[in-house]
Amino acid sequence: MKVDIAIPRTKFDFFTYNAQDNLQVGDLVLVPLRNKLKYGIVIKINSQRYINGIKDVKELIEEKFISKNLLKLYKWIADYYLSTLGEVLRLTVPSKILKKYEPIEKPAALPSLVKTSVPTYPQSNVIKRILGALKTNYFKTFLLYGITGSGKTEVYLRCVDEVVKKGGRALILVPEISMTHLIYKRFHERFGNDVVTIHSSLSDKERKRLWYAIKQGEYRIIIGPRSAIFVPIKDLKIIIVDEEHDHSYKEHDRMPRYNARDVAVMRGKFENIVVVLGSATPQIESFRNAGIGKYQLLTLKERIDNRSLPEVEIIDLKKENRKFISPDLELKIEETLKKNEQIILFLNRRGFAPNLICPFCGFVAKCPYCNLPMVYHKPGKKESASLSCHICSYKSKKISICPNCARGTLLYRGAGTQRIEEMVNKIVKRLALNHGQIDEPIVLRLDRDIARKRGQAEKIFNIFEQGRAKVLLGTQLVTKGLDFPEVTLVGIVNADVILNFPDFRSSERTFQILTQVAGRSGRGKKPGKVLMQTYHPEQYSILFSQLQNYPKFYSQEMKFRKELNFPPFSKLILLRFKGEDEKAVWNQAEKIFAILSRMQNIKAFGPNNSFYYKIRKKYRVFILLKTPKTFRHGKLRFLNSYKTKNCTLDIDVDPLEVF
Ligand SMILES: [Zn+2]
Ligand SMILES: [Zn+2]
Repeated sequence: MKVDIAIPRTKFDFFTYNAQDNLQVGDLVLVPLRNKLKYGIVIKINSQRYINGIKDVKELIEEKFISKNLLKLYKWIADYYLSTLGEVLRLTVPSKILKKYEPIEKPAALPSLVKTSVPTYPQSNVIKRILGALKTNYFKTFLLYGITGSGKTEVYLRCVDEVVKKGGRALILVPEISMTHLIYKRFHERFGNDVVTIHSSLSDKERKRLWYAIKQGEYRIIIGPRSAIFVPIKDLKIIIVDEEHDHSYKEHDRMPRYNARDVAVMRGKFENIVVVLGSATPQIESFRNAGIGKYQLLTLKERIDNRSLPEVEIIDLKKENRKFISPDLELKIEETLKKNEQIILFLNRRGFAPNLICPFCGFVAKCPYCNLPMVYHKPGKKESASLSCHICSYKSKKISICPNCARGTLLYRGAGTQRIEEMVNKIVKRLALNHGQIDEPIVLRLDRDIARKRGQAEKIFNIFEQGRAKVLLGTQLVTKGLDFPEVTLVGIVNADVILNFPDFRSSERTFQILTQVAGRSGRGKKPGKVLMQTYHPEQYSILFSQLQNYPKFYSQEMKFRKELNFPPFSKLILLRFKGEDEKAVWNQAEKIFAILSRMQNIKAFGPNNSFYYKIRKKYRVFILLKTPKTFRHGKLRFLNSYKTKNCTLDIDVDPLEVF
């Protein structure tokens, strides 16, 4: 018989082979490809006849390796994201296939420690609606819009409980690997050893074994970041996407540039199951989908136990003489420490200072590969002081004297988490000296420099949760879904970091992050307070995040989107050209621009140089395509044939960043 076989890690949808055996769609086989044997998946039976002149399938490895529904999903991803099945399979099946399944030894079951709390009235209402849909066994997507602290996790737990009782399985997506263990803890307390997390910081071997174990049906509840959406799960009944607005759900590196939230909805459709998207700050498109009935909206308008949202005060940095920590924020930090309560400080910039500048000639230390300012990092326990490019990760030794004019010492400009850490430590020390009443207060810093080390984020969250440290300071990692009831002060050191990006989503992102981080305050019995430092107190995303009012932000943002015809009113596709030969990159972009401008229903903008024009010696130029929402963009797959040696082309459908 003649069969089409998709082979992982190729740039093609499929290859055609002859097969002696009686193969079926979804089978895993071994086939020859360019003098090597490769694993592949049968995606189509073309003809029952044996065809001469094409190669034979070598061996059938496993029948029904991938279910029909998952295969449909993979094909959809390839089509929608203008990629190929070969590229999609790279993400979805382990790099080396296990020939024989070895069961995993689970640790002994722990007794359930946690008393299940009684859901509040609004929670019960929401749970009832989801359970109703679960009973029907049909596809349905819910958008659970619940303000920070309204108890969304309890809703998830209840729904999963119902699914598990009926013999089904549940998949829970979280935005960050560092968050998997926080949510794992909640589920593990309730469900014991039926819960597992799968993510990319496991070793290849561990991950592969888990993948097989889950496929065999060993676990009932699977938790993981975006790549977990592809894991084969028997009797899957519900997919929950927590913090659905989070940009970490988008693959930002390689094709296919999928968004796991949207893939989750499509998986729900193909598997005919329930999908729950949860957020306190839904992505504009999601809230719109709920508005037009594509999703069903569920709302939790109040914090549990009638707790109030924290009071948010804006501090205008223009009036604060360029201080990184204003006197008001400093005072509040002191007060909170004296009361022995906890603090979260947020600054979306790691390192000590984002710039090193010469006060005499204006020289700025820049990355030789990207031509962007290098960030100064203080020496750590094991690392020496360095300058680091946050775009390409190039590092060099710290320089002190200006290499340009040699007239003096370079100065630090701006502040990153390390610098704020130093300042807060000074406050802490002073307090300990003056008052002597605070027991060993520790400031913990959490950013990518620290979270990179395996298990480190988990350790920090644990210390903070036990109250052994009083201040948690960090980048976006401290904004996401954390639930520490003793935190009564959140300080936003600089609310403007994202606002300054030239992107149509920068207001939305700013609103989301500020509202999320503000929401970490006052989640326990004591009321919370938030201080937000900004140079733009009048900007609407800052104002509405001060009010923590999503609906008002949504309607303002929708006006702006409509006026400029941005999503959800149109569809965007970003084409990014990259190469070391500047001229070749521009030529290729111009060539494709000419082709696209002749096509109907497409508005092409560009080519333009990217905000980061040069990264790792490669020039970056982009074209932005705007099409009507109904446009069948699948026809643009022909663009893949325009990738050349001198110029790569990265195609991003529904991009989250357009610069
Ligand atoms: Zn100089
Ligand atoms: Zn660089």
